[in-house]
Amino acid sequence: MREALEEAKKGALQGEVPVGAVLVHENKIIARAHNRVEELGDATAHAEVLCLKEGAKALCNWRLLDTTLYCTLEPCSMCAGAMILARVGTLVWGAPDHRHGAHGSWVDLLGRPHPIHQLEVRRGVLWEESGALLKEFFKERRSSGSAI
Ligand SMILES: [Zn+2]
Repeated sequence: MREALEEAKKGALQGEVPVGAVLVHENKIIARAHNRVEELGDATAHAEVLCLKEGAKALCNWRLLDTTLYCTLEPCSMCAGAMILARVGTLVWGAPDHRHGAHGSWVDLLGRPHPIHQLEVRRGVLWEESGALLKEFFKERRSSGSAI
């Protein structure tokens, strides 16, 4: 989770909403990413999705069975859906996302039983640090008059 936080910080330095993710397989980090929405001009370039793509390349398999995805923010519905499709084994997330969170904050995709694949989920790990990074980022953006 600390590694995911480092990714989030890298994103913030590049003007991205500071969310980071790392994907672990057999105790090794096989993918890491931060949000790249602004850089790529792509609303879907979330840290989690980028991590799943990189992880699939690393394992030469889109089925990411027995992997753990660490993410600093509660995933949105797109990312939660992608994790189910990719058969991620375990998700660990940090701070809740009241606007887009898909594990109860907005909708609860991850809390509902799925007919094919059930992720194991741990929430609220390094909540304070992950949340503080986001708060700081949005405070700076607001004070500089940037659109959010
Ligand atoms: Zn997302």
